[in-house]
Amino acid sequence: MDSIFTKIIKGEIPSYKIAENDSFFAFLDINPNAKGHSLVIPKKQVDKLFDLDAETYSELFLFSRKVAFAIEKVIPCNRVGLTVIGLEVPHAHVHLIPLNNMQDASFSKPKIQITTEEFSSLAHEISKHVKL
Ligand code: 5GP
Repeated sequence: MDSIFTKIIKGEIPSYKIAENDSFFAFLDINPNAKGHSLVIPKKQVDKLFDLDAETYSELFLFSRKVAFAIEKVIPCNRVGLTVIGLEVPHAHVHLIPLNNMQDASFSKPKIQITTEEFSSLAHEISKHVKL
């Protein structure tokens, strides 16, 4: 069965896309901890991150690094953090979150609200800085 993220890759569910290549897809998290909170996923649907084959696993992190550099160019922050959870969506992914304090890394705190216009603009601005 296709995961919600596979449906996003296929364009069956809309997303605020940041970047993609043949193997990976990056887009804004719909329920973000902070402005610019992004997800990077392999197009290959595998539930748990550490079950990815070694090559896909390594390349996912290299692809994520390129997205993180782009986020840093657009979102003023102390640094971009990388988190792996995976309790909600059974499709391996990493979270890239602009951090200014420990609360920004917390998934228990109230989420921030972003308008659809702001989501579109953030994705557009970040995408311009991704150097694949
Ligand atoms: P996790 O599986 O790492 O616990 O969390 C999954 C993340 O995916 C959450 O931060 C959630 O907001 C995000 N998410 C879940 N469904 C969608 C969706 O349909 N679109 C987008 N852009 N993000 C989603």
